[in-house]
Amino acid sequence: MQITEIFRSIQGESTYAGLPCIFVRLTGCNLRCVWCDTAYAFHGGKQMSVEEVLEAVRQVSEFDGQRRVNLVEITGGEPLLQKEVGGLMERLTGQGYQVLVETSGERFVGNLPAPVVRIVDVKCPGSGEGGTFCMENLAALTAKDQLKFVLADRQDYEWARDFLRQHRLEGKVEAVIFSPVFGQLEPRPLAEWILADGLPVRLGLQLHKFIWHPDMQGV
Ligand code: SF4
Repeated sequence: MQITEIFRSIQGESTYAGLPCIFVRLTGCNLRCVWCDTAYAFHGGKQMSVEEVLEAVRQVSEFDGQRRVNLVEITGGEPLLQKEVGGLMERLTGQGYQVLVETSGERFVGNLPAPVVRIVDVKCPGSGEGGTFCMENLAALTAKDQLKFVLADRQDYEWARDFLRQHRLEGKVEAVIFSPVFGQLEPRPLAEWILADGLPVRLGLQLHKFIWHPDMQGV
């Protein structure tokens, strides 16, 4: 597998936000969102076997030989481009980790191991990658999964709101998250739009960007 980084941080972008979490960031992405904050993961990285990834995860999850962090997020880049990722997820869940995967939504997620929590983006027009969402994912997602819309402006908000209503996303997944593009759309207007429309969504802020410098890698 091609791996950009493996590190321990605070989960920042889902209903798991705030929890200590091990991140496995896979290298490479087939999309180019204009506001992408992980472009450093497009290229480079290090070739590692599944066994080596498991060992690296073990090392950052344990303290004095005891596992203290049980949450692992597979992210990227786009993690589902690498064929070994399903096997990695199976090994991690088999070792008792709770596994999250964060994906652009362009790939089908219905064939991932059942225990894995799928956090799936729906790309809005302002990303420059609108229309890439794999619509079959709507039927594949379950009550433990999450859908995320990253919004650059009011136009994106209205698009996401209409998508939510059209596909009756409420109740389909654990959470529908509306998250502003950091530094481009302030949280306050987004919060006020959500409240004004009575939308059953969760406002998502990228917690790690408030804790550390917004451009910092490996957090
Ligand atoms: S899908 Fe994710 S990693 Fe790929 S360009 Fe968009 S934001 Fe960046």
